[in-house]
Amino acid sequence: MEVLSKILTKRIEDSPCFKFHWKCDKIKLSHLCFADDLIMLCHGSPSLALALKAALMCSSCFRASLLIKPRATSLLRLIISVLSSLQVFWASYLCLPIKILKIIERKFRSFLWKGVEGDSKGAKISWSDICLPKKEGGLGIKDLSSWNKALMIRHLWILIYAAMSIDLVEIRSRMPSYNPNSNIDDSIQWLPSSNGIYSTSFAFSSLRALHPLVPWFQLVWFPQNIPRMSFILWMTVRGRLSTRDRIHKYDPSAVTTCVLCNSHLESHAHLFFECLLSRAIWTQLLNYCGSPWNGLCWNDFITWASTHWRGNTPIIVAKKLCLGAAVYHIWRERNCRIFEGTQRTSLVVARSIIDTIRCQLLSINLRDHPLIALNWNVNAN
Ligand SMILES: [Zn+2]
Repeated sequence: MEVLSKILTKRIEDSPCFKFHWKCDKIKLSHLCFADDLIMLCHGSPSLALALKAALMCSSCFRASLLIKPRATSLLRLIISVLSSLQVFWASYLCLPIKILKIIERKFRSFLWKGVEGDSKGAKISWSDICLPKKEGGLGIKDLSSWNKALMIRHLWILIYAAMSIDLVEIRSRMPSYNPNSNIDDSIQWLPSSNGIYSTSFAFSSLRALHPLVPWFQLVWFPQNIPRMSFILWMTVRGRLSTRDRIHKYDPSAVTTCVLCNSHLESHAHLFFECLLSRAIWTQLLNYCGSPWNGLCWNDFITWASTHWRGNTPIIVAKKLCLGAAVYHIWRERNCRIFEGTQRTSLVVARSIIDTIRCQLLSINLRDHPLIALNWNVNAN
C-alpha cells in the first residue's frame, strides 16, 4: 500500500490536468487506504480515471490483484457481513416466502462465484454445503430459511413466555399446596439453550441438520490464516478445484495432462503433491519448517497434518501457513501457465511462498521462539 501510495502521489504531481474530488484539493486527498482496501478519489472524468488506472497498473502486485478480482474471499466477507444483514430486518418480522428466499440465495451464489448478480451456473460447491459452519466443512454462511424460522420462533417465545408466566401465577394461586419443589420458583425453560433462555443462535442450531465435524477444520481456518489462501486450500481439501481430470468428466475433448510437468494426469493429488515441480517446492518449504518429507500421498498428508498440526503455537502456525501458501501458489502457477502463457521455476515459486509466510510471521510475537525467527529470517523483536 505504501508503494502504491507513493506511485499515485507521483503520478498526480506529474499530471497537470489532474483534478481532485470535491473539497479534497486543499488537503490533496486522492486516495484512502485501510488494511487491503483502497478508495480512490478524483474528479469524475474518464481521462482522470484512466490516469489512476495507469498508476495502479504500474504496481505488479496491484496488477495481479486487478486481474483476479473480485476475490471469492472478499465476496464471502461481503455476503456474511453485509448482504446477509440486509434481509435480517425483514426476516425478523415476516415469514419470508420460499420463493423470495431462493431468489436471495441465488443472488448470493452468483455473487460468491462470479462477483456479479445474475446466473449462478458453474458453482463449484453446492449451496447447502457452503451454508454449513466452517467446523462442519462449509463457509459459515447462514441458511436463510432456518435463520428466518429461528427469528420467527423468537416472537412465539415472547408470546408464550408472557402467557405462560400469567398461567403459572394463576395455577399457583388456585393450587397453593401444589409445588413439586418449594425451593425453586416455577419458570419456563428454553430446552435447546444451556441457561434456559431463548437464543436465536441456539434456535438456529436446533433447526438445521447437524453434520460431523471435519478433521481438517483447524488446518484451513486459524486466526493467523491468509483468507484467500485458506479459501483455495478449502476448495482443494474438498477436491473441488477445476483440475483437468474433473473438467474431462464434463468435456471429454479437454486436455488432461498436467501443465506443470506435461506428463501425468492433472488431479488434486498429483498437482499439489506428486508433480515434480510441486515436490521440488515442498522439499524447500519443509526444510524451512524443519520437517523432513514424509512421503505420504495428498489425502494421507492432510489426515496426518490434521492430527499433528494442532494448536496455534508459532511453529504450528508456520507449518499451516506453509500448506495454505504452497497450495495457493502452485494453483496460481498452474493457472498462469494455462491462461497467461507465463511460467516460473520451482525456486521462484518457493521464494514467493517463503516471502508470503515471512510477511505473515511478522505479525506474530516470536521473542520466545528464536529458532523459528532464525529459520524464517524474521526479526524476533
Ligand atoms: Zn505434474
